[in-house]
Amino acid sequence: MNADYPELALLVGGEWRSAGGRETLPVRNPATGEVIARLPAASVGDLDDALERAQRAADPWRATTAYDRYRMLRRAAELLRVRAPEIGRATTMEQGKPVAEATAEAVSAADIFDWFAEEGRRAYGRIVPSRVPGGRDLVLRQPVGPVAAFTPWNFPITIPARKLAAALAAGCPVILKPAEETPATGLALARALVDAGLPDGVLSVVFGRPAEVSEHLIRSDAVRKVTFTGSTAVGKRIARLAADGVKRATLELGGHAPVLVFDDADAETVARRAVASKFRNAGQICIAPTRFLIQEGVYERFVRAMADEISRLRMGDGLDASTTLGPLAHERRPAAVAALVDDAVDRGARIVTGGGEAPGPGYFWHPTLLAEVDPAARIMREEPFGPVALAVPFADTDEALRLANALPYGLASYAFTDSRSRAREVSERIEAGMLAINHFRLVGPETPFGGVKESGYGSEGGSEGIEDFLHSKLVSEA
Ligand code: NAD
Repeated sequence: MNADYPELALLVGGEWRSAGGRETLPVRNPATGEVIARLPAASVGDLDDALERAQRAADPWRATTAYDRYRMLRRAAELLRVRAPEIGRATTMEQGKPVAEATAEAVSAADIFDWFAEEGRRAYGRIVPSRVPGGRDLVLRQPVGPVAAFTPWNFPITIPARKLAAALAAGCPVILKPAEETPATGLALARALVDAGLPDGVLSVVFGRPAEVSEHLIRSDAVRKVTFTGSTAVGKRIARLAADGVKRATLELGGHAPVLVFDDADAETVARRAVASKFRNAGQICIAPTRFLIQEGVYERFVRAMADEISRLRMGDGLDASTTLGPLAHERRPAAVAALVDDAVDRGARIVTGGGEAPGPGYFWHPTLLAEVDPAARIMREEPFGPVALAVPFADTDEALRLANALPYGLASYAFTDSRSRAREVSERIEAGMLAINHFRLVGPETPFGGVKESGYGSEGGSEGIEDFLHSKLVSEA
C-alpha cells in the first residue's frame, strides 16, 4: 500500500462507499509491479442502487437549465486545473505514463469540460415550415436518459471526461465504470464534479469484473445509452448487449494507424516528430502512428533518423521528471507485445532497435523499430498497443493506399507530402475517421473523434460529440 496514492471508493448516487465487506481488487504500479492499493468492487446491490439513483435523477437533471449545467461543468473544469499536478501523480502511479504527460492530460480534461459545457447551451432544436396552413413543426432536442459508460486505462482522465462532459451537458445522468487498473484518476474526475455541485445520483462510479458489471448495467431498463472505449473484441460484445435492448451505443475501438511518408516530405524531420508521437504513453494509444509506410526514395533515411531519435528516449519510472518513456500499463501487456514482435521477426522483419522486454521490476519494453515487416505478420494487422513502430517501403500512391486501407480498422491516419494534389487524393481515398496531413496532433475538444469500419461508430468531439446523447422529438402543431 502506498500512502501517497489516494484512497479508493465507489461513488453510488452521491454516496462514497469504501471497501466495507466488499471484494477488493489489487491496483499495481506498473513501474514497480507493487500493489499500491485495493479497490472495492461493486456488489450487485451497489450496481442496482446506482441504476435506481440514475433513473430517479434523470428528470430533475433534464429539467436543470442548460445554463446551470454549464456553470457546474465550468466549475469542475477549474477544479481539475487546480488539481492537475496531484491528479497527474496518481495517474502516473497507477498507469505509468511520465508525470508531465499525466498532468497535461488532466488539464486537457478540463478543456473538454469547458467545450461540452458550452455545447450544452447550443443544443438547439428547430422549427420546420409546416405543410398545414397555420401549423408548426417543432424539433425538440432532448437528453436520451441514463448512460452507462465504460472507459479504458490508457487515457484514464480524458476518455471518461469526453463521455461524462457530453452526457452531463446534454442532461443525461451517467454510471461510469473506469478501468480497474486506473481507478484513482476516474475518481478524481468524479470528485471534481461532486465538489462543483453535481446533484446526488446524477453520477455514479463503479468498479468490478468488467464483463459482469457491463452486462448488468447494459441489461437494465434504466440505461438508455451505452458508450465504450476499448478493444474491438470487447466493443463487439458491448454492441450486442446494447442491441438486445435497442439501446444507442457509441463505440471507440481499436486502431492501427498508417503513416504515409512520400518522397517529397522532409524524411528526417518527420521521423523525429514521429518518435514523440509514437512513443507517447508508451505507444498505448488507439490513434498512435504505427504502420510507417515510406516511399522507397526516402525509406532508408527515414528508418535511420527514426532509430537515432528513439535512442534519445529515456525509459524509467514516470515519476522521475527526466523520463520520456514509461512502462506498459499492465503485467499482461509485455507478453502480448512479445508475441507480436516474435511473430514479425520469424517472418523476416529486421529489428532496427529495441525488440524486447527490459529486465527488472515493472513492465518495461524497450522502444522498438521493426523494418521491412511482412504485411502478413500479425503485428501488421493486430494493434501492438505498445512502443513498437513498423516500417514498410512502398512504390507509389496506389500501393500506399492499398496497404493503409487493408485492415478492418479505420481510426486515425497520417500523411506527409509537399504535394497538394497528393494530399487531396489521400484525403479522399483513405479509409479512416481522422487524417492528419503533415503533422501528428489529431485530438482536440473542438474536433470530431471517431472511427470507421471496426474502429467503431459515433463521434466524441466537436459539435458532433453531444449529438449521441440527444434525440430529436417532433412536436407537430396544427
Ligand atoms: P481488454 O480488452 O481486456 O481491456 C480493455 C479495457 O476494456 C479495460 O479497461 C477493461 O476494463 C475494459 N473491458 C474489458 N472487458 C470489458 C467488458 N466486457 N465490458 C466492459 N469493459 C470491458 O484488454 P487490455 O489487455 O486491457 O488491452 C488490450 C487491448 O485493448 C489493447 O491491445 C488495445 O487494442 C485495446 N485497448 C484500446 C483502447 C482504446 O483507447 N481504444 C484502450 C485500452 C485498450
